[in-house]
Amino acid sequence: MKKELICIACPIGCHLEIFPEDDYRVEGNQCKRGIAYGKKELTNPTRMVTSTVLIRNGIYPRVPVITKGEVPKGLVFDVMKEINKVVVESPIKRGEVVIKNVLNTGVDVVTSRSM
Ligand code: SF4
Repeated sequence: MKKELICIACPIGCHLEIFPEDDYRVEGNQCKRGIAYGKKELTNPTRMVTSTVLIRNGIYPRVPVITKGEVPKGLVFDVMKEINKVVVESPIKRGEVVIKNVLNTGVDVVTSRSM
């Protein structure tokens, strides 16, 4: 049965139609990225996670963090819970690892600014 999705790979937002029984054939895409996005979204959806962690002695109470790669969509909420447990100390540099291999995904959580 056909599935419908909006491609989020660029701001155009093509309306995709995906046919799982036909090897995830994708229609409605204006470029190849839509094919990759449509297939992946139905077979192995993943997301980057952005959030903040508490920082001691920083100029703000929290410092922004991001996953260094995409994690399975189904783990996003649990990754957020792990991020919420972290407290770092200022000074900290952009790109410093605050969680190594979060939930065994192979993906680190790093700071996205210095503070
Ligand atoms: S299919 Fe291509 S053009 Fe359309 S939204 Fe996705 S990335 Fe953009």
